[in-house]
Amino acid sequence: MATPKLIIISAPSGAGKSTIVKALMQALPELELSISACTRAPRTGEIDGVHYHFLSVEDFKRKIAAGDFIEWEMVYEGKYYGTLKSEIERIQRKGNIPILDIDVVGGINVMKLYPDTSISVFIQPPSIEELKNRLEKRGTETKESLEERVNKADQEIALKEHFRHVVVNDDLQQAVEKVKAIILS
Ligand code: 5GP
Repeated sequence: MATPKLIIISAPSGAGKSTIVKALMQALPELELSISACTRAPRTGEIDGVHYHFLSVEDFKRKIAAGDFIEWEMVYEGKYYGTLKSEIERIQRKGNIPILDIDVVGGINVMKLYPDTSISVFIQPPSIEELKNRLEKRGTETKESLEERVNKADQEIALKEHFRHVVVNDDLQQAVEKVKAIILS
């Protein structure tokens, strides 16, 4: 396989994807997070330009019209998320490898754009029940948004066959090691 141009990590919300991505970047310094644009409100502690580029819906739509995204999705009702071309270019110009923490449909779309030069990994939660527990513990969701995320997880797990690699996250450390081995191979 050619040198990967990018790494795609997809999973239902609450599967531990962001934690795994953070650990991977610590272990493999040439990986750099592609900072997505989104229209949801920042959570406590989230910084614009670090965790996301937080945009209004109007600005996000302007960027869609300008062709600024390699992919975008309305991931949740009224909430847009997208991968900016400028992010991928910025990271690749530095000689680094972009790592994308994106939803499952977005992951499949990016895979189609880079069929030969991307590595795609689906992070599977041990069960829907466990995923619900994790989201509750995280405490970032309302009752409605938690329900929306849990319902969406079922549909996302049904799409896991599209990914070249599937890693079950029942033990965080082991999951990180498995994804690391996939990237290094
Ligand atoms: P959260 O609101 O919990 O930060 O993210 C919700 C979901 O949106 C997660 O599954 C996350 O991976 C996904 N997401 C984040 N950025 C992007 C993006 O640029 N494109 C797509 N399609 N999904 C994204």
